[in-house]
Amino acid sequence: MSAAASSYTPAALPEQASFTASVDRMADRAIAVLGLDAGIARAIKTCQSIVEVNFAVEIKGRTEVFTGWRATHSHHRLPAKGGIRYAPIVNQDEVRALAALMSYKCAIVDVPFGGAKGGLIIDPARYEVADLERITRRFAEELMRHGCLSPALNVPAPDMGTGEREMAWIADSYRRQHPDDLNHLACVTGKPLHLGGITGRTEATGRGVVYALREFFRGADDVKAAGLAGGLAGKRIVLQGFGNVGYHAARLLCAEDGAKITAIIRREGALICEAGLAVEAVHEHLQATRTLAGFPGEQFSPQGAAALELDCDILIPAAMEAQITAANAPRLKAQLVVEAADGPVTADADTILRERGITVLPDAWVNAGGVTVSYFEWIRNLAHLRFGRLERRLDEARGEQLVTAMEALTGKPVPAPLRGNLVKGAAEIDLVRSGLDDTLRDAWQAIREARAAHPAATDYRTAAYVVAISKIARHYTDKGLR
Ligand code: NAD
Repeated sequence: MSAAASSYTPAALPEQASFTASVDRMADRAIAVLGLDAGIARAIKTCQSIVEVNFAVEIKGRTEVFTGWRATHSHHRLPAKGGIRYAPIVNQDEVRALAALMSYKCAIVDVPFGGAKGGLIIDPARYEVADLERITRRFAEELMRHGCLSPALNVPAPDMGTGEREMAWIADSYRRQHPDDLNHLACVTGKPLHLGGITGRTEATGRGVVYALREFFRGADDVKAAGLAGGLAGKRIVLQGFGNVGYHAARLLCAEDGAKITAIIRREGALICEAGLAVEAVHEHLQATRTLAGFPGEQFSPQGAAALELDCDILIPAAMEAQITAANAPRLKAQLVVEAADGPVTADADTILRERGITVLPDAWVNAGGVTVSYFEWIRNLAHLRFGRLERRLDEARGEQLVTAMEALTGKPVPAPLRGNLVKGAAEIDLVRSGLDDTLRDAWQAIREARAAHPAATDYRTAAYVVAISKIARHYTDKGLR
């Protein structure tokens, strides 16, 4: 991006005014590196619309009023995409910040969507399933009424406190109001498989975190610069958040990469084991008891936040925003912070970590697996066709022919494991994982290249934002703003 006539001067902000201000400050660093025109910079950072809805639902004979939002940060590419969060403390600023992160995230991983996010103030644990369904369907109606739910314009997905079940209710609410929309299934992603979902979506964000980490560890120089050595095997990891993202990331890091989860932190406290926790057993315990406390044999501490400061190689915040702040950043002991959650490190903490030489792998790359596989699901819904359905058996037949030819030429049988690999046609899950891995690897290379091309982009977050903001800016300038 060429230096522009009117250069952009970021507003000086005091300590952590809001989540949106924190995200904006991070964007400002990249905008300054790019020397972007002030008007374009403002256009990119501004949230294009935010809709607040208030609706009443009768719950057990009592009328309750619910408040929710859908922020559409950018619609330079459509549909705008982003999850819907159910939490007792969600607010408008949070939704706006998360929508901005979605714009940058989609641009970094080349997913052709604008950025959006939704939130509803609710503690889902306080409601029975039937009530949650009525609340979700009413919320979906409000979103439709305001143009915030449509396969072409605005496509939600799961986030904190929501999952497949809520997405199925939203999809069905849309279908009922738009029975003639052939593409109704594409109005929301993260649906159950039998209702138009895609294999691998539930685990996609956690798996993406693991693919991102593997890609980082392929670069010996980057690993050395982060003060680490070797691969993921044996690395001691402290994990905050053991929900959808945290659980799947932990499961794969232990089972497939030989890493050790030495602490799991949740709201109620932390489970700590220097030798490495049995992730599946902890998961089963949680399913049964809903608390980490009482897990047999391991140390439980009610001081969850303090466990972020435990000695470890890698810290993975996978819970929520603003967990690493100016207050605890000076005391972190991890060499590498991997942002599996959205916005877990505040802008002030980011500065402190940078000054301390602690490497941060940014959320907008690390947790982009969810939106990437959502993109695959959306395409699958529009195509009305499962990935791999046309070519799988053809690939298998070709594999058989190849094995037969090899055996004829060598006069020896091909060993069974090799034969199995050669004749296997790709199932949908293989294609989804391949596409996810490829997407995150390509994005990492783009981030590294941006860092090399812009010496002022010393950290990976700024480099990632340089990638995102230059793509969005190009979109605005090439299309023209009218
Ligand atoms: P989730 O609701 O499934 O799990 C959240 C976990 O964090 C739970 O274990 C909860 O106990 C824990 N937690 C919440 N607040 C905490 C606190 N103050 N201290 C310690 N632990 C706390 O949510 P999720 O879907 O796993 O999302 C986690 C994060 O990842 C969020 O920031 C979300 O925006 C982000 N994210 C999720 C997805 C996705 O596909 N689910 C995609 C991209 C980003």
